[in-house]
Amino acid sequence: MRKIEKRAVVCLFLVAAMLLGLGIYVIQYLRFGGKWASFAANRHLYNSQGQLAVGRILDRDGDLLSWPDENGNRCYYDNATVRKATLHAVGDAQGKIGTGALVAFADQLSGYNLITGAYSLTGTGNDLYLTLDARLNYIAYEALGGKKGAVGVYNYETGEILCMVSSPTYDPLDPPVIEDGDERYDGVYLNRFLSGTFVPGSIFKTITLTAAIENLPDLFSRTFTCTGSTQVGDGVITCPHAHGEMDIYGAFANSCNGVFGQLAVELGGETLSSYVEKAGLTSRYNVSGLKSAAGSFDVTGATENDLGWAGVGQGNDLVNPCAMMVWMGAVANGGKAAVPRIILKTESSSGLPASLQLTHRTDTLIDSTTASTLAQMMANNVAETYGASRFPNMDICAKSGTGEVGGGKAPNAWFAGFLRNEDAPYAFIVLVEEGGSGADVAGTVAAKVLDALVNGY
Ligand SMILES: [Zn+2]
Repeated sequence: MRKIEKRAVVCLFLVAAMLLGLGIYVIQYLRFGGKWASFAANRHLYNSQGQLAVGRILDRDGDLLSWPDENGNRCYYDNATVRKATLHAVGDAQGKIGTGALVAFADQLSGYNLITGAYSLTGTGNDLYLTLDARLNYIAYEALGGKKGAVGVYNYETGEILCMVSSPTYDPLDPPVIEDGDERYDGVYLNRFLSGTFVPGSIFKTITLTAAIENLPDLFSRTFTCTGSTQVGDGVITCPHAHGEMDIYGAFANSCNGVFGQLAVELGGETLSSYVEKAGLTSRYNVSGLKSAAGSFDVTGATENDLGWAGVGQGNDLVNPCAMMVWMGAVANGGKAAVPRIILKTESSSGLPASLQLTHRTDTLIDSTTASTLAQMMANNVAETYGASRFPNMDICAKSGTGEVGGGKAPNAWFAGFLRNEDAPYAFIVLVEEGGSGADVAGTVAAKVLDALVNGY
């Protein structure tokens, strides 16, 4: 009798272990089944060169960006500039572009589902529509004029990314052989918009200003004087020239380093850090499953002068272009913005929806009253400094930036902002590496892309 009891216990234990194992397997299967099935060694889905042989990638208007021919070889859009401008969104046959749909969304392209796995009667996989407009990518890439950088435009109400360009890039039909240290292709496989971080320069003043509006009650009655060089702590903070006497509106429109350096010190490192965090600049966003890079703001052990420079977007400050664009969207949208997404929809070969694409919202990145004050001041920047005539039919709010990178290189040019037009709820970010003046160079790239988007020329 005792022997039987013992055996029963052993049996029960084995059954429990099996059920546990099965449970773990089922959970993993539900979570990662699509990734397993779309593993590159699966010959049902990949051709002999390891290229994904099923699934078509289209832009939001239905322009075909990449598709397999009857032999399973990858084809791409017939215009080389469009191929280059959409490389980091579409991907390459070799799988080197991690953010490209061919790699990142292989499971959705394969037509994988829980019932039939990756098997389909037609064997053609799914149609994956990106939120991008290939035409805008083309215009943005041309506007960068061969410079390295990133351009992003998105709808801050729906999250749809309309333009996402990263440069340098190459033609996926003619991938270059890249020698070590070839500067032309520096970081070419990196999607700078999603995965890069850069010194922000003066676009960071939107953060310092937000903290100042909320913490310095007399901010709007103050008068500042800039002589071109301001003593902050044990060093000076310099401006390109003397800005003279101005209020906070003027200091922001002139992008006066002296004023913002002093404000940063008055606010203190801890306060400033909390605003950077709240604005989402140190967060990572989930863009249809792609994680954006987190920026950083570290003023531990900083001197007063270091803190001053940190408050004008220099020093150790690093921002990710995508996170900066979302921050602009939140200012536009009363404090919360839609989280960006790059997949518009997926359809099976029979035309049925193959996935659910939802709009998610960010946390509150800025108080709504502060947001409308900041927007007003950014609109004033355009009127006073950048020139409203460059942005026809646009209720545009913006801040330029010129991020010094040192090493004898020209500064990074930035232009960040958003439109308040009800029928054009777009936020944007432009980075031109070693571009020089933010308002001129990056502002011109932004103007070309926004003009095409709003005025449809
Ligand atoms: Zn100044």
